[in-house]
Amino acid sequence: MSRTDAPRAATVRVPAKVNLALRVGPPDPDSGYHPLATVFHAVDLCDEVTVRRARSTSLQVTGPFREGVPADPTNLAWRAAELLRENYARTCGVRRPSPVAITLEKNIPVAGGMAGGSADAAGVLLAANELWGEELTPLDLQDVAAELGADVPFGLMGGNALGLGRGDELSTVLSQGELHWVFCVATAGLRTPDVYRELDRQLGWDGPPTPETSAARTAAPEPPQELLQALRTGDPHEIARHLENDLQAPALALQPGLQATLDAGREVGAVTGLVSGSGPTVALLCESREHAIDVSVGMAALRPEIQVFTATGPAPGARVVDTRH
Ligand code: ATP
Repeated sequence: MSRTDAPRAATVRVPAKVNLALRVGPPDPDSGYHPLATVFHAVDLCDEVTVRRARSTSLQVTGPFREGVPADPTNLAWRAAELLRENYARTCGVRRPSPVAITLEKNIPVAGGMAGGSADAAGVLLAANELWGEELTPLDLQDVAAELGADVPFGLMGGNALGLGRGDELSTVLSQGELHWVFCVATAGLRTPDVYRELDRQLGWDGPPTPETSAARTAAPEPPQELLQALRTGDPHEIARHLENDLQAPALALQPGLQATLDAGREVGAVTGLVSGSGPTVALLCESREHAIDVSVGMAALRPEIQVFTATGPAPGARVVDTRH
């Protein structure tokens, strides 16, 4: 049943992510997709997504990381609004709901390996569903999210999650306490497909499989059990021992300067550092909130050209923070 008191506008806050483990298997010969075993961790660095009823779909981008974000139908947030409208017509048997004017406040670095575009798409799904009378259930929204991209379902879910398949088969991961981070944003972004292409090149996955390699090339990566156990202890030093990212080597090959950022992180006392997802953002793990502030100050002094900010996880997934009637 539609709600008669549905709002005119809704604002959703949606978190960035870092992959605490990212294991990548060889690409499927038919689809070209790499099977993943990953542990997503949402941090309290959030984009804010507002949707309002409008005559036609539109998009405005504000905030510190607005540069380079397309304000047109190629934006994943715009595609999310259109796909949800079609789903309303299909799933609920109702006329397509009114279009929405979308405003994105970009606080998540763009093309930084923190899934900012996916976060915005998740935000639009939740906000537009609120506007259109909450006809779709959280499970329906997860299905629409998976159609938009592998990282979008996690934007809705948040917390810590194990992601299998293309990263969109999610299950909750138990953890204790909070993790404190310093994120170092590189000046130039990295395109995710380029990083996967470099991984394929490094591992010899870019040619046809030979009889020797074909068995290995059908194997999906195993979930990182030791990391999952370490997360239950909540001890950052124990967790640090099990952080891993198969995309780090290719990201470093494409942006060799990232090694200096990782080295600087160690020099200023971070517990450890790793490239976030496909990079080039570097995530430095710290012992506490205070330690993260010290590390960020140290990084700003040592590498003043790099933008740094602190964040804490696990953060909740997309949530409605404001509605206007
Ligand atoms: P991932 O971690 O999922 O690989 P990312 O954080 O590296 O993603 P995004 O910030 O999501 O990368 O953006 C990648 C590219 O997608 C951008 O360069 C931009 O051209 C395009 N894009 C489309 N929609 C958005 C959006 N809402 N916000 C940012 N970029 C977007």
